[in-house]
Amino acid sequence: MQLYTRILLGMVFGVLLGFLVGPNSMLLPQDGVQWSGNDVVLRAPNADAPPVATAMGIRQARVVRQVDAGFVEARFTIDAAQRLRLIDAGVEEAKTLEPGAEVTGFVSLDRPTVRRYARTGQFLVDATAWIGDLFLALIKMVVVPLVFASLVVGVASLGDFRKLGRLGARTLALFTSTTIVALIIGVGLANLVQPGTFMSDADRTQLLASYSGAADSRVSAAADAPSLTDQIIGIVPTNPLSSLANGDMLQIIFFGLMLGVALTLLPTRRAKPVVDFLDGLNEAMVMLVHVAMAIAPYGVAALLFKVVGSTGLSVLAALSVYAILVVAALALHAVLTYGSIVTFGARLNFLGFLGAIRPALLLAFSTSSSSATLPVTKESVEENLNVHPEVSSFVLPLGATVNMDGTALYQGVAAIFIAQIYSIDLSFADQITIVTSATLASVGAAGVPGAGMITLALVLTAIGVPTEGLALVLGVDRLLDMFRTATNVIGDATAATWMARLEGYDIEVLAPGADRDDPNRGFEGRLDEEPHPVKVESGD
Ligand code: ASP
Repeated sequence: MQLYTRILLGMVFGVLLGFLVGPNSMLLPQDGVQWSGNDVVLRAPNADAPPVATAMGIRQARVVRQVDAGFVEARFTIDAAQRLRLIDAGVEEAKTLEPGAEVTGFVSLDRPTVRRYARTGQFLVDATAWIGDLFLALIKMVVVPLVFASLVVGVASLGDFRKLGRLGARTLALFTSTTIVALIIGVGLANLVQPGTFMSDADRTQLLASYSGAADSRVSAAADAPSLTDQIIGIVPTNPLSSLANGDMLQIIFFGLMLGVALTLLPTRRAKPVVDFLDGLNEAMVMLVHVAMAIAPYGVAALLFKVVGSTGLSVLAALSVYAILVVAALALHAVLTYGSIVTFGARLNFLGFLGAIRPALLLAFSTSSSSATLPVTKESVEENLNVHPEVSSFVLPLGATVNMDGTALYQGVAAIFIAQIYSIDLSFADQITIVTSATLASVGAAGVPGAGMITLALVLTAIGVPTEGLALVLGVDRLLDMFRTATNVIGDATAATWMARLEGYDIEVLAPGADRDDPNRGFEGRLDEEPHPVKVESGD
């Protein structure tokens, strides 16, 4: 079976398991209760009863029985650390409790911060999460050395500054213009559909209460974002080794470019060993991606099980119009904008193109990280579309870092949606501000899960919408992140193919199955090759 088929099966399996036996499963008994506020556990099943002080700091409990429609009786054990924390907080009665003591209380189900869940489902998610994390770690492990080595080799082999300048200018122009088109589509549709008018007051109160804590942390993360000029100066690393160590992608790209250029200025005798070394390193990283992809089907199953299992269906229902609008707008952008560029610019069949990058798409969807997907995107366009590494090693890392059309579009829709819920009228000038600030915010967002949510705070501030409003959309963020990351990755691959065509390379969609016939191409086959042991000449 082809690798991508196995990944697809893994995804389907993960999603089904998430619905059937995840924490929100309807099949399993909802025998746990979680809450995010303090003093939620009361002494009696009565809204006016005093809180059970010992419940402070405890966030979940086992449901013993359902008292009535509004209350459950819940029991939890406190450990030694919780007991000490409570004594520190001045709770006298905690002194009489032994660590491990069982405490009982009543939890009001009407509170917006309270949620019931299946404890078995949560246990299954916790027990399998490591498989997804291990897979992600294996892929992320190669990102920095791969980007650096392939970029230096790519630039050194270009050997022509004018070509490099032209490629850079065209790529940045394409990135900016597609992002603006994405925002026009998103902002236009959000004005047309008015998703904010579909939300009930009850849902609004519930969402604001449930997610306000999580929203606060996004806002404070966004407040630390440096200014644009600082960001531009920050691209030049003061210490390239620390950029590599910290995985600062823009600095790595800058240093890689400069080093590649410097190598072309040296006599070949001096430059060749460095380029050969990095070329070998690059090849070895590609091989490691293949090794990691061998466990991809299991990894994506575990990742999706966690996401689907942990997303509450009630949140999804409350935000359904908004979520459908975001997905539809992303799809429209992919088909209209990328479809036209691939068809008329790169002169490839768009469906064939999507098929060629399908391993990257599936991975983007399940990991929600364009930067973790980067090694696979690169491999897909090079091996399945014949894009020359000279082009892909420059365009793709840059794209995974700054070109996020999906994120920008999403931010445009989210900003208008939140403004509508707060009944804030946005003028035409405000809408233009959304387009400019979301373009910058998407550039500033890192290619990791949830990054677009943090920089959305900047867009909201720019148009004077309260940042607490982030709480309204947080519940479905992880789910929508999958779709916007997939869009981001299609955008990067589109740019790579068109740029390759403009640079005069022959690109083509590799016929399905051809990667199996030629073991050097595509994701199948490479690992079937015989290992070539490296003989080290001994000095004596
Ligand atoms: N997860 C997205 C990406 O990696 C960024 C975002 O929109 O949060 O491309």
